[in-house]
Amino acid sequence: MSMKAVVFQGENEVAIEDVDEPEIEHPNDVVINITTSAICGSDLHMYEGRTAAEPGIVFGHENMGVVSEVGDAVTTLEEGDRIVAPFNVACGFCENCENGYTGFCTNVNPGFAGGAYGYVAMGPYKGGQADKLRIPYADFNALELPEEGHEDSFSLLADIFPTGWHGTELANLEAGDSVAVFGAGPVGLMAAYSAKLKGAAEIYSIDRVPSRLEMAEEHCDAHPINFDEGDPVEQIKEQHGGGVDKGVDAVGYQALDPEETDKGDDYAYDPAKENPAVVINSLIRAVRPTGELGIPGLYVPEDPGAPDEMAAQGRLGIDFGLLFEKGQKLGTGQCNVKSYNRKLRDMIIEGRADPSWVVSHRVGLDQAPEMYERFDDREEEDEAFTKVLLEP
Ligand code: NAD
Ligand code: ZN
Repeated sequence: MSMKAVVFQGENEVAIEDVDEPEIEHPNDVVINITTSAICGSDLHMYEGRTAAEPGIVFGHENMGVVSEVGDAVTTLEEGDRIVAPFNVACGFCENCENGYTGFCTNVNPGFAGGAYGYVAMGPYKGGQADKLRIPYADFNALELPEEGHEDSFSLLADIFPTGWHGTELANLEAGDSVAVFGAGPVGLMAAYSAKLKGAAEIYSIDRVPSRLEMAEEHCDAHPINFDEGDPVEQIKEQHGGGVDKGVDAVGYQALDPEETDKGDDYAYDPAKENPAVVINSLIRAVRPTGELGIPGLYVPEDPGAPDEMAAQGRLGIDFGLLFEKGQKLGTGQCNVKSYNRKLRDMIIEGRADPSWVVSHRVGLDQAPEMYERFDDREEEDEAFTKVLLEP
């Protein structure tokens, strides 16, 4: 049997293709009928040809649906159960999983740290931007959901809501802290929203896309900082009256260089106008001595489109001397979604959190090629393009 799926064709191109339907491959698997999958900023790194991803990958690591087939050894799930899957594929019993680091499972993708659906170097797991998806170690990886309601919010539990939360955890954000969140894409918006939920005293949201900054202001009570209007660190320090307690990097290695003097039409798409270390260095400057930095933004060991040779090997010019001088701490890496998704689900159920405002589009799977192109544009004058949900 075949089904529809979003398949990577090469730089800046995805297509809907017929691919084989997933089957139970191991007694611990389930197969789900996807009800919602989402396009992620992480997919754009592959889409733009900025990773080692080869054509043929079925994309989609943010997946939610209804169980349609159950392997013989699965004990807690039945046909008809509504579930959301962390983007991490994890076994549940290796040393890292036992310690809660499910983003670094050593069994599901030997030789690399951690597995994921539909992602380069993250194992053989097909993505869920498709009609159906196989979920390995299903008892461990599926989070059960109430039978109905909150489809948009629950779908965000696969990645960006926990990942935004993780950014604030990596920075040990506490109630009353001030925090600067670089990037107001979906992950940065969820980090700023998490900071608000945790009772941060002051939140700064840094980006250059007006519609995204407006969302940060409206939904996260953040002070918007537009780096097109001058050095963002100076702007933060001026407004705050000095360095902030905590910082989050929700941009990653494809960071635009705010100091670029020639911001022509291609500024947001030209690797030559990037500076992969600029956000981390901005955080080191913006955060006070002994403050903490959370870095969920993605960095890669190999970037085929890097602005220079050092960056091509994943090496960054970090101001480590200044970091040392300021005695700052930092944390980074893939989000361990399972550490947070159950509690965030319960906050959604109880009405304590409703991250669905970040969703700008819900469209049919067949519109994915157009949606990739427009989400990759990031700045549309007339329309916010923050989070695209796909339904088969
Ligand atoms: P996105 O590309 O939609 O958002 C990035 C935002 O950063 C854009 O709005 C862009 O305008 C802004 N930006 C660019 N340069 C900047 C700069 N110098 N200063 C401030 N803002 C700048 O992506 P997203 O979906 O929000 O994801 C953000 C990052 O998080 C990506 O690198 C993604 O791969 C990563 N990510 C990590 C995890 C994880 O588990 N650690 C999970 C999901 C996503
Ligand atoms: Zn994602």
